[in-house]
Amino acid sequence: DFNAVGSHEVFLSRFRGRCFRCLSKRHRRKDCRDPLRCVLCKLQGHLARECPQNPRNGRGGSASSRLG
Ligand SMILES: [Zn+2]
Ligand SMILES: [Zn+2]
Repeated sequence: DFNAVGSHEVFLSRFRGRCFRCLSKRHRRKDCRDPLRCVLCKLQGHLARECPQNPRNGRGGSASSRLG
């Protein structure tokens, strides 16, 4: 068993006061003009949910990806 709700709160706390896309503190997501930045590996160009380091992406799942 694992507590998904608790981990979700921890995950969101990492974005508090930050842009959700690029993690900048200078603006919010709606004002973002910067490239996407991954919170897991800190590389640009993809989100954590699409990151190769995301355990959810480790087993060749064919989840539909959509940029937004
Ligand atoms: Zn941004
Ligand atoms: Zn990544």
